[in-house]
Amino acid sequence: MQSNLPTPPAAVKRVVIISLDGGKPAVMRVSRMPHLEGMLKHSASTMKAQAVIPSITLVNHTSMLTGVKPAKHKITWNEWEPQKGMVPVPTIFSITKKFNKKLRTGLFAAKQKFTHLFLPGSLDNFVVISDFAPAVATAAADTIRRNTPDLLFVHFADGDHYGHNNGWGSPQQKQGFADCDKGIEIIVSALRRKGLMDETVIIISADHGGHEKTHGMDVTDDREIPWIAYGAGVKAGVKLGQPSTCDTAATALWLMGIPIPADLDGRPVVEAFTR
Ligand SMILES: [Zn+2]
Ligand SMILES: [Zn+2]
Repeated sequence: MQSNLPTPPAAVKRVVIISLDGGKPAVMRVSRMPHLEGMLKHSASTMKAQAVIPSITLVNHTSMLTGVKPAKHKITWNEWEPQKGMVPVPTIFSITKKFNKKLRTGLFAAKQKFTHLFLPGSLDNFVVISDFAPAVATAAADTIRRNTPDLLFVHFADGDHYGHNNGWGSPQQKQGFADCDKGIEIIVSALRRKGLMDETVIIISADHGGHEKTHGMDVTDDREIPWIAYGAGVKAGVKLGQPSTCDTAATALWLMGIPIPADLDGRPVVEAFTR
């Protein structure tokens, strides 16, 4: 168990992680994202958070959802390869269920490869929708309405899709991020309408950035990602350092009052929250 951590804000009962695949801050900044911009004013944030190496999708989402670096989680590939089996370390969902099986967990992703993270019994809702952000968000919002998940992860693939097809920073990719913004709005609205926002933290981040039509290298363009905390107990206006994708997992567990395993590489981003 990690020690010497402050007590998390008492109001927090729920964590929602939204990951924008290929979410390069420099491109998001010049995309039409009015909802995210509105949230940023009330957030603790940085646009200089860091993807782990290699800066590719499944490697970083595995770090984001296990809290450990690739050397420990061993997921070095980037496709759904059923013969390779499930992630060999616990995920935040399995840790949450082990802590209290009544806590409800959900993962909504736009790519099949997330199946590598679906450990038996760890997720009440595991949904892959190969579609754009508003469709994925609508499915996740439906689960918020019906099941009130305690720990929810939502993945939007739009930015990465247009990055590979048209280039990082292309007009098409900017439109993709605008659609992600609609997806964010759908999720926040669902939480608001159910009266859950005053007990929920939303973490908005990404798995990697990109350059030209690719990513995967140890360069700023590929590694720099946003890390934004919004909602209950957040110290609005705080500029954060350089959290990594591993820190997202640690932060989610800490916020939910779940002991953080000592061998996690990630540390909770405690400076984003009130004491
Ligand atoms: Zn990706
Ligand atoms: Zn990609």
